[in-house]
Amino acid sequence: MVKINWDSLGFDVVPTKSMFKATCIQGGKWEGGSIIPYGNIELSPAANVLNYGQGAFEGVKAFRTVKNNIVLFRVDKNAERMAFSTRRLCIPEMDVDFFINAVLKTVKDNVDYIPPYGKGSLYIRPVVWGTSPGIGVKPATDYTFMIFVSPVGPYFKKGLKPLNLKIANQFHRAAPKGIGNIKAIGNYSASLYPLAQAKKEGYDEVIYLDAVSEERIEETGSANLFIYKNGIIKTPPLSGSILGGVTRDSVCVISQKLLNIPVEESDVFIKDLEEADEVFCTGTAVVVSPIGKITFNEKTFEINKNKIGPITKKIRESILGIQREESIDLYGWLKYL
Ligand SMILES: *Cc1c(COP(=O)(O)O)cnc(C)c1O
Repeated sequence: MVKINWDSLGFDVVPTKSMFKATCIQGGKWEGGSIIPYGNIELSPAANVLNYGQGAFEGVKAFRTVKNNIVLFRVDKNAERMAFSTRRLCIPEMDVDFFINAVLKTVKDNVDYIPPYGKGSLYIRPVVWGTSPGIGVKPATDYTFMIFVSPVGPYFKKGLKPLNLKIANQFHRAAPKGIGNIKAIGNYSASLYPLAQAKKEGYDEVIYLDAVSEERIEETGSANLFIYKNGIIKTPPLSGSILGGVTRDSVCVISQKLLNIPVEESDVFIKDLEEADEVFCTGTAVVVSPIGKITFNEKTFEINKNKIGPITKKIRESILGIQREESIDLYGWLKYL
């Protein structure tokens, strides 16, 4: 049996039993692959991914449910997005079934690391890299796909306390027609500095504006943004520099179909944030997290008196309810292990 204190889980890497590894070389296809012991790997210092960042990743969660089943949440969506990301980065396109089977295999071999019902989840990290050596700028010839997992608790240490965010006025996360709409590993390196600065100033995360007009809200470094005002939910449209989150899509479906709250995908301006009844961000890691304070150019405003709002709470609980099988999986989002 594994010894883990399930009550003290944060969002960190906990080494587990094993990981998945497959390769795709010299223009071949993605096939095969195997489960190997969890541990370090060997790469050429000239590997494409280490020099030019040719890599893409995913984030999926597995849960132990109230019915004592083990389920994956919307893994088919992650598989489709991986196919989309690999195409954009000239990585041999990974087909959906290959991806899903590899995730299932990895989770099965690490079931002992899935937290008990209600104590968190198993975060699954599929990642693909160009691994052949090269110094000329071109796509790699050989690729490695790996999946590792880690039991996780809440992403933000403060739990459900509303977040204190800063709107970046010196940095952009992504540009139009760039790679902000795929899960490219390089997108995150651009957001490390603004995030580190913001944390030093006491903020939890950064909100990015669109790189053209600097008036429209896009998203945070790793989560999509929503506002609620006068009975309507609004989120920025997937214009090309916003990552199409699986949680974002789930929130749109749940709000409209389950809670009967209309959702508009339309421009969100700084003023809309200021006047909103509720603001929240969404992602596999953060689920649905309330935002209580936002600062832009030294000016700070509070949302819903810095308390979690009823709509944010309802949406969060609806998603968690489906993930934990406390409510009916109306949309077929669960895949059973
Ligand atoms: C992964 C990610 C999200 C959230 O997507 P989910 O599929 O909901 O986890 C949002 N923004 C960025 C930039 C991301 O990389």
